Amino acid sequence: MPSSSEPVVIAMDWGGTWARAGVADRSGQLLWSGRRPNVSGGTQRQLLDGAEDILAKALEWCAGRPVDAIGVAAAGPIDTDNGTFHNPPNLGVLDGVSLKPLWEERFGLPVFVGNDANLAALGEYHFGAGQDARGMGRPVRTLIYVTVSTGVGGGVIDHGRMLLGAEGMAAEVGHMVMDSSSNAPQCQCGNYGCLEALTSGLSIARMARERLARGEFCSSLTGISPDNLDAGDVFAAASAGEALASEIIDQVLHHLSLGLVNLLHLFNPDIIVLGGGVTDGIRDAGLLEVIKERVSGRAMSPRHREFSLVATGLGYTGGMVGAAALAWEQLGHAPGG
Ligand SMILES: [Zn+2]
Repeated sequence: MPSSSEPVVIAMDWGGTWARAGVADRSGQLLWSGRRPNVSGGTQRQLLDGAEDILAKALEWCAGRPVDAIGVAAAGPIDTDNGTFHNPPNLGVLDGVSLKPLWEERFGLPVFVGNDANLAALGEYHFGAGQDARGMGRPVRTLIYVTVSTGVGGGVIDHGRMLLGAEGMAAEVGHMVMDSSSNAPQCQCGNYGCLEALTSGLSIARMARERLARGEFCSSLTGISPDNLDAGDVFAAASAGEALASEIIDQVLHHLSLGLVNLLHLFNPDIIVLGGGVTDGIRDAGLLEVIKERVSGRAMSPRHREFSLVATGLGYTGGMVGAAALAWEQLGHAPGG
């Protein structure tokens, strides 16, 4: 049980697989965290029960300590006014559910909601890569966060403010159209040739399956059943020097770099933070520098070239830390202040 009487907030990150909840202090430290798996194929009620259960556990942990609010980062699209889901691809049964009024009544606390990738960007700005840069004497004015994972998402923080757009749904960086050719792959969103369809973990696996099905050979991938083949296998085969896998990873780096060039010119960031499982593969293979060089090489001016590119240090806690930052901000406290 926490001994301090300093107030805390409850921070939730609700994704397609897990509902995670944490207890965060003003410095963004997670004092406690836990998670519940979403019931696979579950009903709306079952999913809400799971998330509410882990929120209740977090509140229980706080016994005696003042809890000021609940911040929620959710896999959207989700609007920021009422926390209403709008056809969320990964939490489909929650379409139309408004988390803010529902949970304010249930838990008796203010509830603030945002898109998980936007909030991961806010978390990086206040408590992650942005904080690290400030600690080294480098102010961060504009930060872009891009998660390259099962899907691709992102967020833009400009001078401390989250870029939300008219309905709170801006910065869907994964759905920038990168390939308009007639054979562009279809994206989960329905469009063709999106950044997500060319760089996500699911896309990397799909590209490998398609090439193997056409009869191409790769000694480490050919033996894997197509259903089990994932992006991690492709990264492993590429680092073993296999040509087919190396070509796929190089194409991913190419499209990811082009996407980041577009973001560089649109938003002029000081810092680009990459997260997600595909980023882990890129970082572990020592390829972040390749992306940096390719993006810099296309920058339209020396000023646009003044950015750093880093992999997130917050890992799976990024969404929760960002939800905590949102809650402190909405309560009128500068996060970390
Ligand atoms: Zn798309």
